[in-house]
Amino acid sequence: MIFEGKAVKVSQLETGVVLVTLDLQGESVNKFNLLTLQELGEAVKAVKTLPNVAGVVFNSAKDVFVVGADITEFTTWFTLDDNELADKLREVHKTFNEIADLPYPTVAAINGIALGGGFELCLACDYRVMADSAKVGLPETQLGIYPGWGGTIRLPRLIGVDNACEWICGAGQKRSADALKDGAVDAVVAQDNVLESSLHLIQQVVDGKLKYQQRRQENNANMVFSPIEKMMIFESVRGVVGAKAGKHYPAPMVAIKTIEKVIGQTREKAIETEIAGFVKLAKGPVAKALVGLFLKDQQIKKTAGQFSKGAERVKQAAVLGAGIMGGGVAYQSSSKGTPIIMKDIRNEALELGLSEANKLLGGQVSRGRMTAEKAMKALNGITPALSYGEFDHVDLVVEAVVENVNVKKAVLAETENHISADTILTSNTSTISITELAKNLQRPENFCGMHFFNPVHRMPLVEVIRGEKTSDAAIARTVSYAQAMGKTPIVVNDCPGFLVNRVLFPYFGGFSAMMKEGADFQIIDKVMEKFGWPMGPAYLLDVVGLDTAFHADEVMAKGFPDRMQHEGINVIDKLFEVERFGQKNQKGFYRYENDRKGKPKKIFDAEIHSILAPTVVSKTELTEEDIIARMMIPLCIETVRCVEEGIVGSPAEADMGLIYGIGFPPYLGGALHYLDQMGLQAFCDLADRFSHLGKLYEPTTKMRAMAQNNDTYYG
Ligand code: NAD
Repeated sequence: MIFEGKAVKVSQLETGVVLVTLDLQGESVNKFNLLTLQELGEAVKAVKTLPNVAGVVFNSAKDVFVVGADITEFTTWFTLDDNELADKLREVHKTFNEIADLPYPTVAAINGIALGGGFELCLACDYRVMADSAKVGLPETQLGIYPGWGGTIRLPRLIGVDNACEWICGAGQKRSADALKDGAVDAVVAQDNVLESSLHLIQQVVDGKLKYQQRRQENNANMVFSPIEKMMIFESVRGVVGAKAGKHYPAPMVAIKTIEKVIGQTREKAIETEIAGFVKLAKGPVAKALVGLFLKDQQIKKTAGQFSKGAERVKQAAVLGAGIMGGGVAYQSSSKGTPIIMKDIRNEALELGLSEANKLLGGQVSRGRMTAEKAMKALNGITPALSYGEFDHVDLVVEAVVENVNVKKAVLAETENHISADTILTSNTSTISITELAKNLQRPENFCGMHFFNPVHRMPLVEVIRGEKTSDAAIARTVSYAQAMGKTPIVVNDCPGFLVNRVLFPYFGGFSAMMKEGADFQIIDKVMEKFGWPMGPAYLLDVVGLDTAFHADEVMAKGFPDRMQHEGINVIDKLFEVERFGQKNQKGFYRYENDRKGKPKKIFDAEIHSILAPTVVSKTELTEEDIIARMMIPLCIETVRCVEEGIVGSPAEADMGLIYGIGFPPYLGGALHYLDQMGLQAFCDLADRFSHLGKLYEPTTKMRAMAQNNDTYYG
């Protein structure tokens, strides 16, 4: 062994080929942490001193190549001042340049995932051999930064400017066929043959069949374009990327600007350009929010793992109700491998539920994400039922019937008579207290909330709600079922609306109050969408369903009368009264028609203003800032209340709940991160400007005390 570290080893074969093997000890995957980077530098120095080297293969002893940089370690870099951060980046560039300049042919043997810095290492090699099952890519823009170890410089030279912009700005993980097609790798082989093929490639260089110096020259050369060519390429790329990224996410556009510059620069100059752009992004608020989300995601997954520890896998599930939610739960459960009985009281509902599942599975097959065989298996895994016939061998039941406390209590009590003593019963109620629903049950310890979000197959969050009598075992099994369905569960304590809807309804409260003052819901939607929400509040209400929202609103008003009760009828009451339930019956605030793909398309309905006219009591002129403040303040204060009252275990769970559950704008990092960034005192001052609107706009006593002490939620 020529070099043996804790993450990198160097050995030489009889053929003269040197293997630089990445194998981070004590970890299941390789990642670029500080130790690996340091040892890689030492390893390359050791390689340079060796005699008779035929070539160098960078390979991995694990199932992955390198999953990327270790964010937990690198976030400390982002707190350094600009020059210190730039120096850190220069050190890594030095190592990668030494690899690129080794006086022998170099090959990256990509046996598994190679992302971020891991893929940038591959780019510093002359050749890349990739396993057919592996994935490669540069996902940094997802974190609000861009590739900072040569990715913006080497990738365009290798695969062309258009492709490189798409790879970097799209932040995707590329499959082997796409990587080969774009020219990012030289060969794709079976995973077991990656090393052997890499050695063969070096042999071809030794035999004079391949000329690595020539390739190196090409990859190091400036890219030459006429000004017109350059303008055409970059204007079109900017148009596509800008429209997709939006103004709140600067990293993709900064990446394009950097690529535009570096393609015409020498390596040394290009490195400085890349570093300058990287430092600017890394120190900005969006990277702070997005890197924060990445870390919070890891934290909440770890917490969920602690809750589900020891739970047996749910082998057979059941869902009551084949509506929007029940049908979605059945699809998600079965397509992720847990068979499920779907029971309804109406045959038409069952047929609709099955045809929806069929449509979703068909979509998966046509997009190449699932084989036809697997889709068929998933469809067969859903057993439609009009009776409780096979409920005695079910491990977990999700109740998803209408949002009415009496109906739910009756259905739950009836179900309990048909399941075994250790079956866990859960409710997908949006708002009704779990302790209240448990009152009629014989085994309240086996009951908890399992709150999915609409559409179930897309929304990552599941709230698992602990009622007064819920046992730890019930929580464990429910959390483990949510994980098996590919969801991110958070465990919360019981109260009307739990975490997410408790926070969402004050937000709707802000909306309804503005509508009473004669605001235009289309303008409010536009302002909030521009602010970063995936859909404005009126559109969101149409998606949720005005009937569901009406019933939920009643529950919330009863639970928190001091701030969630309203006088007279508001827009939600009105649309419910006239049976405009939203997308489910093609009319709510907007009208809906199916597009060519069968997806509901939103259309303005001229009738709506006269329908809503009786709910308007005054006329107030509202600026964009007013609209944002009047929507966001109630949401933020209610999130704080949930943390203060222990409804949610930590600020991270609260923020991720809002991001994963209702699409809170990620660039703001969650409600509590947003408060920290704004400063609590500034927030309290803003809220006080709206104190005439009532208690929804009143910061808690603790918030004011924290504001005085300059305290923050994330310390
Ligand atoms: P939905 O009206 O689309 O479906 C309800 C289904 O339940 C209907 O098919 C109905 O026939 C069936 N049903 C009624 N009584 C039944 C019984 N006794 N046994 C079996 N089936 C019965 O409603 P939905 O939007 O799917 O909502 C269902 C639940 O999920 C509600 O509690 C709701 O609050 C909650 N939820 C809804 C959303 C949403 O966005 N729609 C989001 C999260 C949670």
